[in-house]
Amino acid sequence: MRTKIVAGNWKMHKNAEETEDLLNELINALPDDKEARIIVAPTFVNLASAVDHLEFTNIGVAAQNMHQAESGAYTGEISADMLKSIGVGIVILGHSERRAYFHETDALLASKVDTALKHNLEVIFCFGEELKDRQSGNHFNIVENQLQDSLFHLEQGAWENIILAYEPVWAIGTGETASPEQAQEMHHFIRETINRKYGNIAQDVSILYGGSVKPENAKEIFSKPDVDGGLIGGAALKAVDFAAIVEGI
Ligand code: 13P
Repeated sequence: MRTKIVAGNWKMHKNAEETEDLLNELINALPDDKEARIIVAPTFVNLASAVDHLEFTNIGVAAQNMHQAESGAYTGEISADMLKSIGVGIVILGHSERRAYFHETDALLASKVDTALKHNLEVIFCFGEELKDRQSGNHFNIVENQLQDSLFHLEQGAWENIILAYEPVWAIGTGETASPEQAQEMHHFIRETINRKYGNIAQDVSILYGGSVKPENAKEIFSKPDVDGGLIGGAALKAVDFAAIVEGI
């Protein structure tokens, strides 16, 4: 069966000292009686120290991005091998902020996914519709196309290393959350879409919800049958809030 996961995407927050402080606070605050996997994604420059810091804990460390090439003249970029070499085993790909501000397309993301999997990284693959898509009733089509164009070239076995994160763009950092029913409806659709292409393995894929998850709404969202956890932005930056969200799983 699929795993419950709560992951914190720290985005461009927390310098070295603040990262260490937040990790220490998390180690103390997180409940230890939960079956869920806990993952944090600090910025690139703090990944190595986070891996060291969390070595004897059950908190995993993810990168927020990665380049698709093996190596080369790509000033400012980070490769899959570099992540692996410091002990990072997970990478977030396809975040809507990367799509919007850095023009990452579904085709580029397919190539990043391939490189990550080749290097035995687990992928947290983010996707989701914009407000205009939901308003025009096109949200299911958009989501289906994002899955098809970035992930449906994969062989069935590759899905063991794919975690999905449905993040409706209109709910990210806006304070507006998809209702638990909207989240469940889309997560169910996503699972059905995977099922049509790959069959039963759809039942084993963890699908996280992301977008203004807070201590107050986490439990109800996580209670939905096709919601396997969350990818948390703003509320992951305070240990007490993140721990309260984990309590809701
Ligand atoms: P917020 O929780 O701040 O809305 O961000 C969600 C997100 O983008 C996680 O990747």
